[in-house]
Amino acid sequence: MIPRSMADPTLAQRLLDGDRRALARAITLVEDDRPEGWELVKEVYPHTGRAEVVGFTGPPGVGKSTLIGALTGARRRAGRTVGVLSIDPSSPFTHGALLGDRIRLTEHFLDPGVFIRSMANRGALGGLSEAALQAALLLDAAGRQDVFVETVGVGQAEIDIIDHADTIVLVLMPGSGDSIQALKAGVMEIPDVIVINKSDHPLTDTMVREIRGVLSLANLDRTPEQVRASWRVPIIKTEASRGVGVDELVRALEEHRAHILQAGQLDERRGRNLRAEVLAIATARMRRRLERELEGDSEFQRLLDEVVQRRLDPASAASALLERAASGSSQEPR
Ligand code: GDP
Repeated sequence: MIPRSMADPTLAQRLLDGDRRALARAITLVEDDRPEGWELVKEVYPHTGRAEVVGFTGPPGVGKSTLIGALTGARRRAGRTVGVLSIDPSSPFTHGALLGDRIRLTEHFLDPGVFIRSMANRGALGGLSEAALQAALLLDAAGRQDVFVETVGVGQAEIDIIDHADTIVLVLMPGSGDSIQALKAGVMEIPDVIVINKSDHPLTDTMVREIRGVLSLANLDRTPEQVRASWRVPIIKTEASRGVGVDELVRALEEHRAHILQAGQLDERRGRNLRAEVLAIATARMRRRLERELEGDSEFQRLLDEVVQRRLDPASAASALLERAASGSSQEPR
């Protein structure tokens, strides 16, 4: 008998029909790294790729959540359905426990056209970013037309979910000089759209100038043709709490989408992201397999002892380990 959980046609079907409870359940499954979750994603995957995914990044407190709330309102008024994923790598809490104070979207809670979910690190083996990518696919499969993904807190390096968005928005506020430094130093990739929120601040225009400077520096590496053909990163001034500048942001997002569609970049971008995703999953599984195989392995222990006693360096030990693995140990799937 097939375990009911492994092939739950009703859950997949309900998800594809846009049922919110099915969606919530499905996201919990992937968040918990349950086999049924992977199974479900596998089933609905052919129905994905339609959502427009926008990722928001930026330091805490700049107003990302408020901005997403305002943007959600604008997209709803345009008749579109919205899904919001808020990813918090630093928090052990989950299932919306902190949603009230975290996402400033309370006005949308009762709107069936808006689905809001926060995800936190609960030690999923595949990692939070992997679970978040799966969750984004589920929102897409459930027919959400706009998917907004936000990372909360810092820990930039660990979370690459934002990189998987079709459009990446960096949100700053006057005074977030660290981010400008990070952009300048190339630590942070140039986003597609830059928002300066809390733009009622007197230093807003200074900041716009600084950012323009950084962006033009980035252009120095390009030929004039490349500069002409490339996307000009718009800098949008907003006051999210009053809804100021939100229409301009909507327009910038639409223009960016039109640009990448016309330049054939959307497919290219998605292809690159999917390649990275496949590699990430494969890598995580290989590591898991290796760790399982090495548990209680006396040869591995011997190698480690050698390393500890400084007779063998770590890299040579790793090579020895890999050679042994390649010469064929156990051949279990997954
Ligand atoms: P996040 O951490 O980036 O998601 O930031 P939040 O959306 O939680 O906003 C942080 C604080 O800034 C909240 O108290 C907001 O009410 C406030 N805030 C958001 N947008 C604006 C704005 O445009 N102007 C001002 N003055 N405050 C804002």
